[in-house]
Amino acid sequence: MTSTDERINLLGLAPSRLRAWFAEMGEKPFRANQVLKWVHQRRVEDFDAMTDLAKSLRERLKEIACIQAPEILLDQESKDGTRKFLVDTGGGNSVEMVYIPEDDRATLCISSQVGCSLTCTFCSTGRQGFNRNLSTAEIVGQLWLAERLIERRLPTGKAISNVVFMGMGEPLLNEQAVVDAAELMLDDHAYGLSKRRVTISTSGIVPAIDRLGERLPISLAISLHAPNDALRNELVPINEKYPLDELMAACDRYAEVVPHGAIIYEYVMIQGINDTPEHADELIELLGPRKEAVKINLIPFNPFEGSGYERSSRNRIERFRARLKAVGINTVPRKTRGDDIDAACGQLAGKVADRSRRQDRLAQMGLDRGVVEVTGS
Ligand code: SAH
Ligand code: SF4
Repeated sequence: MTSTDERINLLGLAPSRLRAWFAEMGEKPFRANQVLKWVHQRRVEDFDAMTDLAKSLRERLKEIACIQAPEILLDQESKDGTRKFLVDTGGGNSVEMVYIPEDDRATLCISSQVGCSLTCTFCSTGRQGFNRNLSTAEIVGQLWLAERLIERRLPTGKAISNVVFMGMGEPLLNEQAVVDAAELMLDDHAYGLSKRRVTISTSGIVPAIDRLGERLPISLAISLHAPNDALRNELVPINEKYPLDELMAACDRYAEVVPHGAIIYEYVMIQGINDTPEHADELIELLGPRKEAVKINLIPFNPFEGSGYERSSRNRIERFRARLKAVGINTVPRKTRGDDIDAACGQLAGKVADRSRRQDRLAQMGLDRGVVEVTGS
């Protein structure tokens, strides 16, 4: 697309917006459904291929609209079928997505921002700083691209059944674009995923959690990582603005509006920082009466250069897990994927952010280790 291109990119129009757009043009609303199917299910980029639209409408669309997906910079496959992609976001920047096939499902982990404005100390995206929000087209375009790339490789490719916003960025600080993209993911004329199978992971932007509950109650994962305010202020500094009592109250309100119930709490296990038996006890206390309804995902910290942290040992993680289990708190079973390609969310794009050394880093990546925790149902 040239910079003078003012055509509207239909890939990024949420169903309600597309319907309104057709209505403005004097077209019937069902045209929007037809176009959604062409764009998102058949993944055509050319209006001439939309044979159930009148030729005059196709000609009009060609003048004022386009279908433009982002492009892939890197596509790497792990021995276990996990695939990581780097998606070009222009200006020398990129974001990552990871495809994780399993027996009964396939999960796509996508990004919502280039970088992140929050500064969680254990997160390599946070260390990179914030560049910009992704557009709706760039967010849903990740799913569009992944389905196209996976499908081509049938029979090994598996249709994507779950999407998690656990790549780069804080989705609830790019709220409108993320909600529009999620609407497309749920719409039967587009991707038709169930609400349970689209998960937003957030560091805890309280007012946005409430708005999401009202607008689009999809699955929610909360990046908790610490059981008290003092430690959470350090690890997840947005906690100073939205402390734990406010966050937990927002989670309770959210749990009431999502019929499918449980919220997942993510807890990165960092050796000697948040992984002692005392921390486990504090966590049990924090969860209080909710404890039997929640699921906790204990994620081994994924080390990166200069983080200053270490991953908790297997023993420490298991001891922590056992302490939670003893009081009836369920943890998400651990699955390690993509080890040989460094596929952990947030780990990949940082390595190529420094474009001057990109080739070196790309070469290095095959040697690095990474862990992806798969969550959601
Ligand atoms: N900004 C959102 C979503 C992106 S991060 C959020 O914070 O929830 C997705 C998940 O990866 C979060 O739970 C985050 O805490 C976790 N994460 C970030 N860096 C990590 C690391 N080095 N090792 C393990 N998990 C990490
Ligand atoms: Fe941003 Fe999430 Fe990383 Fe925190 S953990 S810096 S919110 S991407």
